[in-house]
Amino acid sequence: MDSQVEPTARSPLRRRPIIRNRQTKIVATLGPATSTPEQIEAIFLAGADVFRLNFSHGSQQDHAERIRILRTLEATYRRPIAVLADLQGPKLRLGSFRDGPITLTEGQALRLDTNPEPGDNTRAPVPHPEVFESMAVGHHLLLDDGKVRLRVEHCGPDHADTVVLAGTRLSDRKGLNVPDAVLQVTPLTAKDRDDLNFAIDHGADWIALSFVQRPSDVAEARRLIAGRASLVVKMEKPQAIHHLEELIEMTDAMMVARGDLGVEMPPEEVPTLQKRIVRDCRRAGKPVIVATQMLESMITAPTPTRAEASDVATAVFDGADAVMLSAETAAGQYPVEAVRIMSRIAERVEGDPNYRTMVSAGQDEPEHTAADAITAAARQVAETIQAAAIVTYTTSGSTTLRAARERPPVPIICLTAKLATARRLALCWGVRTIQTADISSFSEMVDKACSLAHSEGLVGENQRLVVTAGVPFGTPGNTNVLRIAWVGG
Ligand code: PGA
Ligand code: MN
Repeated sequence: MDSQVEPTARSPLRRRPIIRNRQTKIVATLGPATSTPEQIEAIFLAGADVFRLNFSHGSQQDHAERIRILRTLEATYRRPIAVLADLQGPKLRLGSFRDGPITLTEGQALRLDTNPEPGDNTRAPVPHPEVFESMAVGHHLLLDDGKVRLRVEHCGPDHADTVVLAGTRLSDRKGLNVPDAVLQVTPLTAKDRDDLNFAIDHGADWIALSFVQRPSDVAEARRLIAGRASLVVKMEKPQAIHHLEELIEMTDAMMVARGDLGVEMPPEEVPTLQKRIVRDCRRAGKPVIVATQMLESMITAPTPTRAEASDVATAVFDGADAVMLSAETAAGQYPVEAVRIMSRIAERVEGDPNYRTMVSAGQDEPEHTAADAITAAARQVAETIQAAAIVTYTTSGSTTLRAARERPPVPIICLTAKLATARRLALCWGVRTIQTADISSFSEMVDKACSLAHSEGLVGENQRLVVTAGVPFGTPGNTNVLRIAWVGG
């Protein structure tokens, strides 16, 4: 891009489309470190496929501006981008401190109360009266993802006197977890409802729901979204694990939100839960994101720890659809490097001779439908003839999700007339979407698949494509034809 002219908003220069050499997708969170057009373009070019707007931070106007920048980038590079709006949910947070971060020492007293005045070294405001309603002497409180641990010594309806068991520092708006109590919190706060509508009005493709506890939480979100976006359920509460199967059934995608999950539950529970959630989502053909602390040390260092590199690799070997960066890109010193190294790890793992064996180990049988039979056959044929790609045509995205469920050894090219579908599928394993005008027949689709796959640089000449479709055209989910087509030559 170095020698190219800067595009203007009115006439974006049609740059070459971006080709990524990996199937696993990268979700990058935007924040203060990634808010200018240049910064966002840099992490997009480094490999970010999905951009997460964290509604726990920043103003609605900040997020709207970021979406505007993303849509310009998308047009410039002709690559559909998914925008994931992550709602804060009923996350408990401290208020702020009068003189900046406070220093704590083990054994000192710290009072928590509902007084909205800024706190100091001896007291911290907690703007959530419900916390005190269900508190009891001896309860443990965890702050800042468990970095600070308090024990309740005395408590009343609007305050608690605690002793610091561990931790040295607290700053404004750090998270608060109350693992010993069951809180009567609503799944969608007034702020969430407002943010949800704002995000959808500004073109968000995915809405992520935080601190889901029960299936009725998801039903409520669905009602509010009313088909205008797709839904990600974040798994971060122990209560939600009991309803895993039902929640997968109800959602469009899931996030293994290891940050809060590892605070609410002992950290040794996180790895096995991560594998279980990824596996169950894959079985259902629902995209699954592995999130939080993946390259945490890169917030302040230009290279990851070996353990972090290994953590990303594990998620890729397990066949997760996407791996996610949070503070690394939102507020870190090395956002571009973090995306770049994450992308390199994914590419390296996917190129490993063991990768196919590992990813296939998490594979489930096709369901007993014609569509799944054709889709599974497409994977087999692509493997046998060493095709360059599998091509699907979709309106709702469902056909392409079934193809991705097979985790085939070649990319999945998705043709769709619907921009919203193209954007949404950016989260999905292995899928490269090309938006095209409506297609009305199978032969037209085969021709288009060959010419577009070639012109977009996804396949070379004299390569073969495995094309699947539903004939007659226009009935969603009726995939019943498989054809091998030659490109060019
Ligand atoms: P958060 O969610 O970053 O919004 O807290 C992810 C997590 O808890 O892991
Ligand atoms: Mn969380």
